[in-house]
Amino acid sequence: MSAGLAILLSALAMTAIVGVRYLVTSGGFAWLTRLRHPGLYAGQDGQMKKEIGWSLASAAIYGVPAGVVAWGWQQHGWTRIYTDVAAWPLWWLPVSVFLYLFAHDTWFYWTHRWMHRPRPFRIAHAVHHASRPPTAWAAMSFHPVEALTGAVVIPTLVFLIPIHAAALGLVLAIMTVMGVTNHMGWELFPRWIVDGRAGRWLITASHHQRHHREYRCNYGLYFRFWDRLCGTDRGLGTFDHGAAAGRGVARSGASGAA
Ligand SMILES: [Zn+2]
Ligand SMILES: [Zn+2]
Repeated sequence: MSAGLAILLSALAMTAIVGVRYLVTSGGFAWLTRLRHPGLYAGQDGQMKKEIGWSLASAAIYGVPAGVVAWGWQQHGWTRIYTDVAAWPLWWLPVSVFLYLFAHDTWFYWTHRWMHRPRPFRIAHAVHHASRPPTAWAAMSFHPVEALTGAVVIPTLVFLIPIHAAALGLVLAIMTVMGVTNHMGWELFPRWIVDGRAGRWLITASHHQRHHREYRCNYGLYFRFWDRLCGTDRGLGTFDHGAAAGRGVARSGASGAA
């Protein structure tokens, strides 16, 4: 098989994996939402269709660099991904996971802030904020330009920071689950975490909710570090579930200024 065909097949396989992972995770949490907060997404069918469309397009964009790197890893030993757990000390496993999350968070915070400038917002980021309020399907609802800025992060980091294949799997799992739960319109984590010491540094749905409502704050992805350091952290948002159930319309975030 020619290298070109092998790379193409690898990219297609990665696209399928990212797409199915999105559908399973978002579908799972959308189903959980129906159980926990019936009617929360009422009246949002049209929006959810768009979220799924943009997200599947994003899956293809994520699949290409991931497919090229996966092919290079298999064929040529590219990247610093290792499979022998003894190749690095055991303490490196959690440290590498944290470094990946922190590096991704840093990249996300600054590109996200940049995308809130008028021109990039109009061209690209408006797609993500068209979800008012977002649902569990909005996890990858990005314009292709924004999807590209997200798609290159992990494929670049694997060349820079050594990581065990299983630890990388954990990073991708955290990325996927947090991407979905941060948008699903209710808080998954218990109050003692969200309002406690950990919640002062970790981003969950209550924090990202406020970004979707107020736009000019709470830009981070996993950690509140950059938001707090740069004065863009406005604290946690709230969810208006009672009103949503009463009217059959999800209101949380709907008051956000466009
Ligand atoms: Zn968002
Ligand atoms: Zn934004």
